Amino acid sequence: MDNQLDNNRNENDPEHGNPKKPNSHRNNQSILAFLICLLVTLVCFALFTNMLNDSSSEITYDKFIELVEKDQVEEVTLQSETLIIEVKSSASSSENTTYYTTMMEDENALTQRLEGTGIVFREEAPDAFAEFMSMMISVLLPTLVLFGLLMLFMRRMNRSGGGIMGMGVGKSRAKAYVQQETGVTFQDVAGQDEAKESLQEVVDFLHNPGKYTAIGAKLPKGALLVGPPGTGKTLLAKAVAGEAHVPFFSLSGSEFVEMFVGVGASRVRDLFEEAKKNAPCIVFIDEVDAIGKTRDSHYGGNDEREQTLNQLLAEMDGFDTSKGLLILAATNRPEVLDPALLRPGRFDRRVIVDRPDLKGRVDILKVHAKDVHLDESVDFEEVALATSGAVGSDLANMINEAAILAVKNGRTAVSQKDLLESVEVVLVGKEKKDRILSAQERKIVSYHEVGHALVNALQKDAEPVQKITIVPRTMGALGYVMQVPEEEKYLNTQKELEAMLIGYLGGRAAEEIVFDTVTTGAANDIEQATRVARAMVTQYGMSEKFGLMGLATQEDQYLTGRAVLNCGDDTATEVDHEVMKLLHDSYEEAKRLIGSHREALDKIAEYLIRKETITGKEFMKIFRAVEKGMEIPENLEDLVFPEEAAGV
Ligand code: ADP
Repeated sequence: MDNQLDNNRNENDPEHGNPKKPNSHRNNQSILAFLICLLVTLVCFALFTNMLNDSSSEITYDKFIELVEKDQVEEVTLQSETLIIEVKSSASSSENTTYYTTMMEDENALTQRLEGTGIVFREEAPDAFAEFMSMMISVLLPTLVLFGLLMLFMRRMNRSGGGIMGMGVGKSRAKAYVQQETGVTFQDVAGQDEAKESLQEVVDFLHNPGKYTAIGAKLPKGALLVGPPGTGKTLLAKAVAGEAHVPFFSLSGSEFVEMFVGVGASRVRDLFEEAKKNAPCIVFIDEVDAIGKTRDSHYGGNDEREQTLNQLLAEMDGFDTSKGLLILAATNRPEVLDPALLRPGRFDRRVIVDRPDLKGRVDILKVHAKDVHLDESVDFEEVALATSGAVGSDLANMINEAAILAVKNGRTAVSQKDLLESVEVVLVGKEKKDRILSAQERKIVSYHEVGHALVNALQKDAEPVQKITIVPRTMGALGYVMQVPEEEKYLNTQKELEAMLIGYLGGRAAEEIVFDTVTTGAANDIEQATRVARAMVTQYGMSEKFGLMGLATQEDQYLTGRAVLNCGDDTATEVDHEVMKLLHDSYEEAKRLIGSHREALDKIAEYLIRKETITGKEFMKIFRAVEKGMEIPENLEDLVFPEEAAGV
């Protein structure tokens, strides 16, 4: 939802059509009202304190007695509990001739104290006005201020349509995200040909709804774009709007659901109202699973979400498609959506936007490299082969990283090397040059990585090695082996999976054989190997014990792809044993392979420690030389095989 434009903001008032004062004016008014309230409070406070202080100042009672004893007092007035003391003018040098203090003895004692001193002593009824003012300030004023604020608050509520919803809470934010022209076309979306094809007719219908209605065809109300994150669902929705030249309203499902029950429903209503006014148009709801979760309690009930969903269902039933209003929604968890949302007449079309295949990846790379200067070494096919499983956003990111790399290295065009480096940056992070490994650690990492590569090279069914490195990466890898398949695979044979398992465990096997101990470095390998082994047993029917029995189902197909066991506890224990056995056998095989090629392992690891990064070609050269019993020279260039020499 990038590039959100705000075209409507200044043209239409948020309150349905009535010409009203713009928002900024209303804000100014409330600020003014608040300032007035504040001013009144301050003035009253100042008046009150001033009245109290007057020109007199407070003294302690013992000071008062001292003044009486020194015969400096002219007159004493008792006002309720306060004594106002007037000092003889000659006795005081300051301009303050009146003091006050709180009476601390009873009236008789005070009368006795003042008797015969010549001090004028009188009692005065309390000042009714001052009393009134003090009451006003302590009780009435805060009440009035509160009342004023309340009034202000209520006025705002009324103005915007009543209730909490009226304060803008229930307003859909679609207006903020409306784009009159997305500027995106189907050409900008690569590698999703089937999805584009399904959406092509939708575009046609938005262009010319009459053509369909004339023949009596009902038009689709909505289409659900399903696929993993970053595959271009939002982009496709924008492209539909762009191709049809209609406005594009976009909102995320989570923006509907709020703390208050009913707010989401009100937002849905508002969104549809707005969209109907702008028809023909496209309303795009991203992450629709945030509101469209199935209403059974399996996934946790929620009143607000259910109400919002009900409102969405009702709205989708209610609008007239002939006006050219189309709802597109995207999700990567279609399995949690409420069936009511998916029934015909609502999101009845499901468009799968899956991870791109090899050709798709090449196309996406091309689309994003359109405005990037490339040199002649660039081969998108190779990059696409190295990025199996990457989605559109990854590939877009890679092209950008490569361009940045080229600039960093002072070049004006992106080379293939930049592209392959950026693939690694996106997949495993940047090189972390400041992480210094000790000599022993470097040795362990080197043997570990060569262990993987050697086992892979020794197994006929494994993919060839592209590159081995022991430069740590920011995403945590201390070293890694990059493998590029020769071709894209959609199926894996049992043999390939077994070879894969042995490959994963090759690193750990090398550690054990060489150092007679093992390290924590194999945690990720073990995790991956276990995942594959478990899938072989529970999902692919590749274990002797269970045969073809399906023991797990996949959840979250487009996100984590997590498999959940659906068997009894005893079977689950047996599954664990079976997985354990598979891993154990693979590990033994890895150890056997490495043990029988120990010399090659040592020589390659030694070379890798020296060079930090070696290519698959260098790896194979040393491997073949060792097999032939040749010496490995300092510089690999000097290594010439007899048959090559003969050829020259
Ligand atoms: P989604 O909505 O599926 O999570 P987006 O549509 O937001 O993914 O894609 C994010 C970005 O990735 C896009 O803006 C675009 O640059 C790039 N991208 C993803 N898929 C494609 C594709 N098929 N073709 C071209 N670019 C793509």
